[in-house]
Amino acid sequence: MSRLDLQKLTLLLALVAGLLTFGNSFFAGYSSQREQLFEQTLEANRAYARKLADTTDQFFLNSRRELAYAAEVLSTRFDDPAARDSETERLKLKSEQFSRAIIVSAAGEIVSASPESTDLVGLKVNSIGATRALKERIPQTSDPYIATDGTYLIAVTHPIFAPDGRYLGFISASLFLRERNALHGLLGVHYYRDGSYLYVVDTQGRLIFHEDGKRVGQNVSSNAVVRQVLSGQEGSQRVINTLGVDMLAGFAPMQSTGWGIIAQRPTAAITAKLEQLARTTLLNAVPFTLISLAVFWWLSILISRPIRALADTAEHWGAPEAASRISMVNSWYFEVSRLKVAMLAGVSLLQQKMGALEAASMTDPLTGLRNRRGLELALKQFDLLDQRYAAVTLDIDHFKQVNDQHGHDVGDAVLRFLAEIMKECSRPTDVLCRMGGEEFLMLLPETDASGAGIAAERLLARLRQTASPTGAPVTASIGIACSDRYASSDATFKAADEALYQAKRAGRDRVVLASA
Ligand code: GH3
Ligand code: MG
Ligand code: MG
Repeated sequence: MSRLDLQKLTLLLALVAGLLTFGNSFFAGYSSQREQLFEQTLEANRAYARKLADTTDQFFLNSRRELAYAAEVLSTRFDDPAARDSETERLKLKSEQFSRAIIVSAAGEIVSASPESTDLVGLKVNSIGATRALKERIPQTSDPYIATDGTYLIAVTHPIFAPDGRYLGFISASLFLRERNALHGLLGVHYYRDGSYLYVVDTQGRLIFHEDGKRVGQNVSSNAVVRQVLSGQEGSQRVINTLGVDMLAGFAPMQSTGWGIIAQRPTAAITAKLEQLARTTLLNAVPFTLISLAVFWWLSILISRPIRALADTAEHWGAPEAASRISMVNSWYFEVSRLKVAMLAGVSLLQQKMGALEAASMTDPLTGLRNRRGLELALKQFDLLDQRYAAVTLDIDHFKQVNDQHGHDVGDAVLRFLAEIMKECSRPTDVLCRMGGEEFLMLLPETDASGAGIAAERLLARLRQTASPTGAPVTASIGIACSDRYASSDATFKAADEALYQAKRAGRDRVVLASA
């Protein structure tokens, strides 16, 4: 079963944190960059529209000045056909600014026209623009209108007055909107591949100039930007154009004509650029991301390894090498070092308790001598070391009577008293056991029968001379047998028991050696 471990968790944590941070800063950067680009584009378009409005204004001011000059010349020579033709010619040809120049008499008849090929001379004018010029008799720049000959145009007109103030007619220079004209030169026809373009609207919101010539004349006054520029405002705005395209538009009104110039760029062009940028950013981030992943992975191993090592030792706390295994764990950070210290303390406490329990399980609680389990252990060690020993069995004489006469507690005290004497009369290497009741067994390592006999006699002599808790000495009987390489320990004990039995029968308070 594969479960989440600390390494995977830390790796996951690092990855999630990294992704969130990256995503966050990426999108924050993306949107702030987008806002910035939008604002820059809006402002650039506004400034561009302003500049073009000024240039175009200047064009119309200059045109008026030229027309004013021509009107001045003609004020005294209006009846001279050569003079009239010279002026129209000059306006049309020399300036190269206009599509056509004409002079109209006060009666509304065209008296001169350039280029001459236009067969207009002699025609009566009836267009809106001409009618208005004749009626109002002031210098003006018209909105687009359809001229007498059907041409769609705008006209700059100037009245001609004789020196005595008599109205003679007007001179007019026009731009044909459906043909290439001076505005194209002025506004510069910029074809951006990203779909940017500019257009000019007249006071009614009709297109005077547009990169798509077919749209000239179309009314776009429903456009929010057009409405603003026609109310005389300059500025910029994100707008959906007449064709439903999202645009960043800058706009500025013209002073001389009241027209509006709008420069705009599709929002999509900027977004596309940004997306390109984002892709590049992401691609550039790949090597760094890979390096980060490797570092995360390495760190996750460093962090999880000591915890895992500690966890592994926890399964073997009972083992003697547990403490040293825990000590070997590299606790390079705070929590692990705390854990390690705590585990070491726990292990040593556990082993101490286990040792104490072990010892208790091998000890007779009344006398503090070994019990049968303790004896087994000693035998095993003798066996391991291949050690010989003398087995000495001891049984108190007439112990029932001690209990009967002095009570069980005194009986117990006599047992403890005997155990003390046994300890005092033995060597540190001797193994002293209480086998049950008032029967004892001593194993004397590397001792032969006579050595054991001497030690036993000394013990009995000591007993005879010492007052027991009953107030008087007690006696005991002892049987001795020596261990044999070829016999089991049980056989040796049995031999010692038999010797003890013989000692009892022979009158007690004596030592009997088992016959070899
Ligand atoms: P003998 O000389 O033949 O050994 O006579 P005895 O009275 O000692 O006989 P036996 O060894 O059969 O008696 C053992 C008695 O020891 C029986 C029991 O009341 C007493 N005894 C056994 N265990 C304990 C003990 O733990 N405490 C006390 N106070 N008495 C015990
Ligand atoms: Mg007995
Ligand atoms: Mg006895």
